[in-house]
Amino acid sequence: DDEVGKKNYCFKMIQKQEVKLKMKTLIKNGRLLDGKNNFHMTRVDILIEDGIIKRIGENINEEGSEVIDVKDSIIAPGFIDIHVHCYPSEDTNGVFPDEIGVKKGVTTVVDAGTAGEETIEDFVENIIKKSKTRVYSLLNISSMGLKIKSELSDMKNIDKEKIKEALNKYLEIIVGLKARASASVVKENGIKPIAEGKKIASELEVPLVVHIGNAPPKIEEVLELLGKGDIATHCYNNKVNGLVREGKVIPEVREAIKRGVLFDIGHGSESFSLDTAEVGIKEGFEANTISTDIYSKNIITPVGSLENTINKMIYLGWSVEKCVEKVTYEPARAFKLKGLGELKEGYMGDLTIFDIVENGKLELKDSVNKVITAEKYIKTKYVFIKDELIKKEDI
Ligand code: ZN
Ligand code: ZN
Repeated sequence: DDEVGKKNYCFKMIQKQEVKLKMKTLIKNGRLLDGKNNFHMTRVDILIEDGIIKRIGENINEEGSEVIDVKDSIIAPGFIDIHVHCYPSEDTNGVFPDEIGVKKGVTTVVDAGTAGEETIEDFVENIIKKSKTRVYSLLNISSMGLKIKSELSDMKNIDKEKIKEALNKYLEIIVGLKARASASVVKENGIKPIAEGKKIASELEVPLVVHIGNAPPKIEEVLELLGKGDIATHCYNNKVNGLVREGKVIPEVREAIKRGVLFDIGHGSESFSLDTAEVGIKEGFEANTISTDIYSKNIITPVGSLENTINKMIYLGWSVEKCVEKVTYEPARAFKLKGLGELKEGYMGDLTIFDIVENGKLELKDSVNKVITAEKYIKTKYVFIKDELIKKEDI
């Protein structure tokens, strides 16, 4: 009867707490790397409880915790890749989030416009909710996303009211809008759909992420539309309509940087040239974020993984710490991703655990078939996410 019922209830509560106690993980012998929190390969322990960072400090001992010894490896905040295509379907070339996420050393991905307002529900229910990897979406301004080609060649594909509805419904998932500014996408419409996308993004107070490719529209026109917090991806492509031409960064880029426009790498099948990146960097044009634009057709080569893309930037002279910042703190800040991108008490217990190889041999290829052999590179071992340690899979 009542008393018994009460006792059973209490017993259940205790059982629940016991289960909770098991969700404590103490990570030892790691070297923390997170410049924003003053960790520069700093030897401290991390205690994670129920997926959240509980404590960071020296010699932590916590009863009832599972101890993981990472044996001198480097621990960074979980890597974030802000340009992927992880809405798999027959016609989008997307791949499942975990294939490019947790299995490759990445704890969070942002899908860059594979889904539009008509397909976002399917994406959320059937893919995002079933993934271990955290997935956010940049909603394509075209209703069907990338399920149709030349998605902005018809202005009727942009439905402002429905975009608004989708955003309100999936506030926690949609972090911005995406539009592709390429001749093959916009056809006769030129800059018009991009301008419309910017108008909608401004009204909804979210960033607009623009893919830049072949003209029309001209890149100068595209940049002119972008303001603080908007992002141009594929920033180191070597196309005629690119941001770096004949050894110089076009002046419109410098103006855009002053306004607070951000630039993202978005490697992709044909959008990253090592030579262009080298010139851009020498001229002081530094991408804010490192991302892959990974999908089924470039997952083997030339992109492979976020790690590979990071390694190309290390080859070009960026420090490991700088690269880490551009796949953790910077992307989290760009999209206001709550609790991500830093090693801080109260933040998500998402970690990427890796080693630095100093005298190795790693062959890497860019999007225009330039091949390099890197001697110094990172090699990811694990991610830790939602209280689980996951080993990185090699290709
Ligand atoms: Zn693109
Ligand atoms: Zn893309």
